[in-house]
Amino acid sequence: MTDAVTTLNPAPRARVRAMKGYHPPLGCRDALRLDFNENTLACSPKVREVLASISAGSLTRYPEREPVEAIVAAHVSVEPAQLALTNGVDEAIHVLFETFLEVDDELLLPVPTYTMYEVYASATDARVVAVQAADDLQFPFAQLLAAITPRTKIVAIANPNSPSGSVATRAQLLEIAKRAPQAVVLVDEAYFHFCGETVMDLVSTVPNLVVARTFSKAYGLAGLRLGLLAGPVDLMRWVRRVLSPYSVNSLALACLPPALEDTAYLDWYVGEVLAARSEFEAALDAFGIRRWPSRANFILVEIGGQHAEFVRLMRAAGVLVRDRSSDPGRDGRVRITVGTREQMKQAATALNDAIVALKIGREKR
Ligand code: PMP
Repeated sequence: MTDAVTTLNPAPRARVRAMKGYHPPLGCRDALRLDFNENTLACSPKVREVLASISAGSLTRYPEREPVEAIVAAHVSVEPAQLALTNGVDEAIHVLFETFLEVDDELLLPVPTYTMYEVYASATDARVVAVQAADDLQFPFAQLLAAITPRTKIVAIANPNSPSGSVATRAQLLEIAKRAPQAVVLVDEAYFHFCGETVMDLVSTVPNLVVARTFSKAYGLAGLRLGLLAGPVDLMRWVRRVLSPYSVNSLALACLPPALEDTAYLDWYVGEVLAARSEFEAALDAFGIRRWPSRANFILVEIGGQHAEFVRLMRAAGVLVRDRSSDPGRDGRVRITVGTREQMKQAATALNDAIVALKIGREKR
C-alpha cells in the first residue's frame, strides 16, 4: 500500500505514508452514548443561553483568545502566560509533539492509553517507546522510570488513564519529571473532574511539566472542541509559536466563561456520574463481570472472546459501548462510559440481557 503511493506526485512525507489511519466509530450514534466518555446529557444551560445570544455580526470577526485565556488561567490558578487554549486536547497534544519531537527523539508512554499520542507521534520523526502495563493495568511506574533514556523527549501520561481508569500518584509524576529533565512530561488530565487529583499547581515550580485539560468530558462541550495546555512560561512560548492564533473558534470562546461559572451544574453532573459509577460497579460485580477499578467516567470490563457480539447486542438494546480489543495487551475488553444513574440503570439491564444471551459472567457457571 505504502509503495504504491510513493509513485504519486505530489507524494506525502514517508512518515505520513506509513501512518495508520485512525477512524473512531462515530457513525449512527443516536442511542445512549457510552462509547466515547463524553458527557452523556448536556452542557450547562448557561452555555445554551450564551450560544443563543451570539449575533451574526460577531461571527465576521476572527476569534480573540487572550481575554478568555486570562479567565481560564485565573480559574485554574496559573498565570495567563502559562496557559494556552486549544482546539480540544487533541490539538494540544499535536502542537506539543510538533514543538518538541525531533528525529531520533523518543516519546515514552505507558500502554494501553489514549490512541492519539501514537497517532500524532507517528507523524513526527520520533520513536514511540511503549511500556506495557501489567494485567492489573496499574500505572507501570518502575518500568517507565527504567525506560527513560537521554533521548526521551516527551513522556505522555493520561491521568486518569484511558481505557483503564487507573491513576499515577503525584509523587510518581514528580519523580518522572525529575528523572527525565531533558523531557517534557505531559500529564493529560482529561478526566480530572471525576478523580479530583491534579498536578496543575506544580506547573510554576517544575520546569518540564505540562498539564492538559479538556472541556469535552465533564463540561459537555466535546462538539465545541476546547482544551487547554498549561506549563512553564519558557516552555509555553515555544508551543505558542506552533499553535494557530485562531484554532479556538469564537463560539467556543464565548461559551467557556459561562461553562466555568456554572460550578453548580458541573458539581451536579460529576456527582451524578460518581454515584452511577459505584452503582454500576456493584452491578458488574453481581453479574460476575471482571472490571478494573476506575477513577474516571468509564469502566473497562472483560467480556472475553464474544466481545464483538456483546457490543452488537448492547447496540441493539440502544446502548453504545466501546470495544477496546485492539488495545495492546489482551483481547476481549470493552469500555463503558458512565452517565447518569438513570442511564446506567438502562445500561445495566441491557448488559444483563446480553450476558444471559451470551452465557458469560455468572451466567456461564
Ligand atoms: N486525552 C484523553 C486521555 C482522552 O481520553 C481524550 C478523549 N477521548 C482526549 C484527550 C481528547 O480530548 P479532546 O476532546 O479535548 O480533544
